[in-house]
Amino acid sequence: MSSTLRDWDNRHLWHPFTAMSAWVEENAPIIESGRGFDLFDIEGRRYLDGISSLWCNVHGHCVPELDAAISDQLKKIAHTTLLGGSTPTAIELAHELTNMAPGKLEHVFFSDAGATAVEAALKMAVQYHVQKSGATQGKTLFVRMDEAYHGDTFGSVSVGRVEAFHKPFANMLFDTLTVPCPVTFRLPEGLDRSSWIEHCFTAVESSIAENHERIAAFIIEPLVQGAAGILVHEPGYLKHVREVTAKYEIPLIADEVAVGFGKTGTMFACEQEQVEPDILCLAKGITGGYLPLAATLTTSEIYNSFLGNPREGKTFYHGHTYTGNALASAVSLANLKLIQANSVLNNTQKISTRLHERLQVLNDHPHVGEIRQKGIMAGIELVQDRDSRTPFDSHRRIGHQVILAARKRGVIIRPLGDVIVLMPAIAMPEDSIDELCEVTIAAIQETLS
Ligand SMILES: *Cc1c(COP(=O)(O)O)cnc(C)c1O
Repeated sequence: MSSTLRDWDNRHLWHPFTAMSAWVEENAPIIESGRGFDLFDIEGRRYLDGISSLWCNVHGHCVPELDAAISDQLKKIAHTTLLGGSTPTAIELAHELTNMAPGKLEHVFFSDAGATAVEAALKMAVQYHVQKSGATQGKTLFVRMDEAYHGDTFGSVSVGRVEAFHKPFANMLFDTLTVPCPVTFRLPEGLDRSSWIEHCFTAVESSIAENHERIAAFIIEPLVQGAAGILVHEPGYLKHVREVTAKYEIPLIADEVAVGFGKTGTMFACEQEQVEPDILCLAKGITGGYLPLAATLTTSEIYNSFLGNPREGKTFYHGHTYTGNALASAVSLANLKLIQANSVLNNTQKISTRLHERLQVLNDHPHVGEIRQKGIMAGIELVQDRDSRTPFDSHRRIGHQVILAARKRGVIIRPLGDVIVLMPAIAMPEDSIDELCEVTIAAIQETLS
């Protein structure tokens, strides 16, 4: 059976973000089951899940409380629609999310992926301005961070920029205003650390001051830009963005799809700088990594602009078939409950420190350019030359070589280019963190010896 599965995988399954020409040689594990923080492939090999199954797993796999939430819900109903109806689990989850979320986010719009949560946020912002001002054509310009990633639909791609992903679609994307990332690993010619950071801060004010009449919203991944390579922003930047956007009455969209649900050490990243966004996008960790579900939360200020006589056409004509899915909502509620019951955020603090300590030995490695970390999100950037920060030739696929070496040692991680990303589940125990770090270090040493 295992060779048949391998064969069908190669012939029929188109993997996301994957160079399929090279897939056959990759011999990637076919994962059949999971238990706790371990994954098991069809040949019975065990791997530690070092990237929380793509940044979404929270408590591990086959968690009794989460399994029970789904099977109990399954005895009632798996799915019905929120279009013209409602369902208890979706109602309760909306209530719970508004209680937890930072600020005055009173209203929840459900969808099923990070990209769709962002897409809803963008359309909400544009329609809000139209209805607030009464104009037929409102504000449509979005401000975004350089190297932002918000998902893969056309709207979310438009507010992101990862050159390699977006090239074929470049002339189909809407215009945005880009502000520079307040990070300092590679500095522009002639600038030092502090002058560059100062430039990044002032660019927020100057870009907005010049264009505020056309700006629909400012969208940001708070504190950490995940897909860009775990870029950790300068402290105070998020707060600064909030102050400037508030001054010009520009809605702030916080895309916490990656950073939300504990990854930076607090439930939501915005909390660390006491920032209250106008729109909050959530996905990934929301169901503990069990089922697809996403949410876009907003304030009454924005929500109320969609009210009025139905004939006025202020309705938000947007939605997805599986919105508020009952099974996904049930497991999400159980996930949130378990985060509280197990004091998972305390564990997160503990393992974040452990991760930091264990990776220290790499600071002296001649090919480690920088180790970036916030909470349990860690990125180790490998470079050809440490002093000049010259990257490796991308054809060498160094990041990929490292994760293959880690896999041989029983750990699954995934690189972003030559940045080795570690993203353990926030409930992972310390000894598994030790294994994750030891194997990663050994894999880097083997690849770059
Ligand atoms: C992963 C991610 C998305 C996209 O989520 P999907 O569920 O893959 O569509 C959006 N924004 C951020 C910040 C992400 O990390």
